[in-house]
Amino acid sequence: MKKVIFVASTSYSGSTFLDMTLGNDPAGLSLGEVDAVYEPTEPHHLKRECGCGTYNCHVWKSLEKVPASQLYQSLFKTYPHIDYIVDSSKSPLWINRRIKDLRKQGIDYRIAVIWKTPLEIAQSFDKRGQFDNWARSWVNYYRLLHTLQPEHWTMVKYRDYASDPETLKDICAGLGIDWFAGKEAYWEKTQHILFGNHSARKHLNPNHRDNATSTDKAAFQTVSYTPVEDPALEARVNQVIAANPVIGRVADALQRMTAGDEAGGRQALQADRMSRADIWLREAKLALRILAAKRYRIGFKHPQTVTSIVQNKEPDQAA
Ligand SMILES: [Zn+2]
Repeated sequence: MKKVIFVASTSYSGSTFLDMTLGNDPAGLSLGEVDAVYEPTEPHHLKRECGCGTYNCHVWKSLEKVPASQLYQSLFKTYPHIDYIVDSSKSPLWINRRIKDLRKQGIDYRIAVIWKTPLEIAQSFDKRGQFDNWARSWVNYYRLLHTLQPEHWTMVKYRDYASDPETLKDICAGLGIDWFAGKEAYWEKTQHILFGNHSARKHLNPNHRDNATSTDKAAFQTVSYTPVEDPALEARVNQVIAANPVIGRVADALQRMTAGDEAGGRQALQADRMSRADIWLREAKLALRILAAKRYRIGFKHPQTVTSIVQNKEPDQAA
């Protein structure tokens, strides 16, 4: 049975790495953040630089007139050797709508939930000067995902995926796809992914690789994990957690599910489900962002994009 694997996570949690790693199989196809083709929220979404290195890629050209509801069905038809598609759009609103379509079409699906601990995600936000945003972004992401699509989750802790090669075998088993030696080397395959994290995408650039020395190559082509050793940051994060008990509850639930207690973790998340009004508000915000990007070429997530367009430069695609 054909299958779509949604990679679900907050920003900066390794979703682009995981997307391409899972798609590294002749029977797999990674799409990246494909929701941005249909629902662009940043000006750079209007320009599709494919992972294969072109702006006019045949994969995306073949989809030009295909509505979002038929996206995967159309790809499976055009590329019959593809058994599964990986989509790291991440947005729970997008995932929810697409799963409704897939159910009608009889296509199977799984959600690969990749997550960092509060301390790890706080560091990733802090590195980008966004410390104030980590808690709200992290906690609300997993609450919304659980509210809309609480089942079919395969849990992936970023640290395990990046530091223990055995983890990928378990992830593949959970998702019902084949594992093989070398699957982690996603840069060996021509990837047709859109948008996503720059650090993950730069591995695909052959020029970048060719310029590296042999020692550099080993360091360059890897998914790295560095434990957080920053007592000052830890103290700040603990303060935020103490003031917001929901963070601890969500972290415990994700940890329980990762350790194999799926039902217990899901049960623990029930108390922090989002209300209909919360979901409606998010739908409305998304609609406004799409309008701003399409009509006025304005983005809110990466303010530097506005500057780069004013200066007539390529927008920074790091996400
Ligand atoms: Zn391509």
